[in-house]
Amino acid sequence: MKYSEIMVRYGELSTKGKNKRDFIRQLGKNVRDVLRSFEAVEVKAQRDRLHVILNDQDATPVMDALGKVFGIETFSPVVKLPSDAPLEEVQKTALEMIKEQFTPGKTFKISTKRQNKDYPLNTYGVDNGIGGYILDNLPEIDVKMKNPDIELRVEVRLSGIYLSSETIQGALGLPVGTGGRATMMLSGGIDSPVAAYLAMKRGVKVDMIHFYSPPYTSPQALAKAKDLAEKLTAFGGTIDFIEVPFTKVQEDVKEKVPEGYLMTIQRRMMLRLAAAITLDRSCNGVFTGESLGQVASQTIESMRVINEVTSVPVLRPLLSFDKTEIIKIARDIDTYDLSIMPFEDCCTIFTPPSPKTKPDLEKTIKFEKRIDVDALMEESLADVKVTKIRVGDDYLNAEKDVFAELL
Ligand code: ATP
Ligand code: MG
Repeated sequence: MKYSEIMVRYGELSTKGKNKRDFIRQLGKNVRDVLRSFEAVEVKAQRDRLHVILNDQDATPVMDALGKVFGIETFSPVVKLPSDAPLEEVQKTALEMIKEQFTPGKTFKISTKRQNKDYPLNTYGVDNGIGGYILDNLPEIDVKMKNPDIELRVEVRLSGIYLSSETIQGALGLPVGTGGRATMMLSGGIDSPVAAYLAMKRGVKVDMIHFYSPPYTSPQALAKAKDLAEKLTAFGGTIDFIEVPFTKVQEDVKEKVPEGYLMTIQRRMMLRLAAAITLDRSCNGVFTGESLGQVASQTIESMRVINEVTSVPVLRPLLSFDKTEIIKIARDIDTYDLSIMPFEDCCTIFTPPSPKTKPDLEKTIKFEKRIDVDALMEESLADVKVTKIRVGDDYLNAEKDVFAELL
């Protein structure tokens, strides 16, 4: 079947007035961003629906991409006929559509809505006209008014006659960008991309902060984190990726701080830097992939001591998730295979064999005096680099040749 457009129904549109306008505008922008590789496709975000006009582009890959964008309740591939199309043309198209889905035993009904009062037939006229034609031409099919297998919707509008027979579940949630802005501490691990996904689901636009420590961490580790961010663009479009050099901090901490407090103090430095970037970018919180009790830095006692460095809210969507649950989502959102690629992260390298699970705040502060917090932060922040990650970017593959030479 050759579809003319995908009709998108908005999710969670409980908000009214200006918020509703912002929601629609943002969703339109996000959809355009996500579909950017489909050059022929046009996106029209209107008050009641969003229309993705296909202009001869095959509908299937477009629908695959649309299915991930937050803020979409359901969508349907649609054939659009001219607003004055005669009944015969509507009948033929309807038959073709129903044949696509029909297998013996299936039932159908026609549901017509008429907004264009100038159309010569009323709702019943269209329902019966099409229904009768289907029964004449597909004798094995039966009509069923309650819960039919195939419901062919016909909308007679001023702008055209729209036919659709499939309603596909969207990703729900809110359009990314309508829920404010935050940063996300994105490692190369399994958890943080899942946490980012959950933050984005509630409409938050997240700028990714990634700490890297060359030469202890490889360029591949950085490329992998960027590719993880690319996976996340599927839910709402372009993402800012902020690389923060962390080598100097880690070397200094390792040299000056007792082993039991290495991890705690490194984490405090990470959070300080993340909080500074968050405020600098007018964001309102820092998301992390932490989950309670998973490792030494993620006990509630550790969190308190680490968190003490800032009043910027630290948000942890995975706080009470089990690893198995996190892995399931990671697989669903297609980040898992990338996450388990074995490039060392900056934390793994400088993690002592037995970090404190219950660090003492006073001792932490005392040991931290051995390093020059402000100078280290200034140095790190001076070399921050921001990259825009777009749908379809591919860092690990694009730099394959460079990596091959390094090996
Ligand atoms: P993940 O799978 O997300 O790396 P994890 O279970 O391995 O999590 P940690 O490595 O202790 O846990 O990291 C806890 C959180 O700290 C991460 O979820 C992430 O938010 C942040 N984090 C860790 N390493 C980095 C990094 N190199 N850059 C940015 N954030 C990081
Ligand atoms: Mg990790």
